[in-house]
Amino acid sequence: MRGRWHAPEHLVCTRCGRQREAHQLDRILWCDDCRRAARRHAALWGRLSAVAAAVALILWITFAVRPSNRFLGAWAGIVVAAYWLGSRAAREVIFGITRITSRPRGNAGLEVLPGTQEAGPADTEEEWRDGPGTAAGSG
Ligand SMILES: [Zn+2]
Repeated sequence: MRGRWHAPEHLVCTRCGRQREAHQLDRILWCDDCRRAARRHAALWGRLSAVAAAVALILWITFAVRPSNRFLGAWAGIVVAAYWLGSRAAREVIFGITRITSRPRGNAGLEVLPGTQEAGPADTEEEWRDGPGTAAGSG
């Protein structure tokens, strides 16, 4: 029998390249900060694409459907529902794509050996802009 593999205590996040404790990394070796940043990013772009879709829907309803005043409320409800569902769906899709297409950095996922310098340049962290109303939790 060979020596048993043991979980290393420190690993390098595959996204930001910073050294983390192993339990802070998830299955694809992202740290908490990177997951949060990716979620924020996905939520922002999910909202933006939903806004674009809602505007297109409003234009289509206005110029193609030409609803009578009686049904304006119902159409408004459809637009709101489409926006709400669309932003959530887009957010999940964008988040999934971000996870799938994430390319490990050169030293990612490797056990940090004692005496090695902490890896990764300090200023490569991308700044995700917060969208409006990020205080509202992500269900
Ligand atoms: Zn990270």
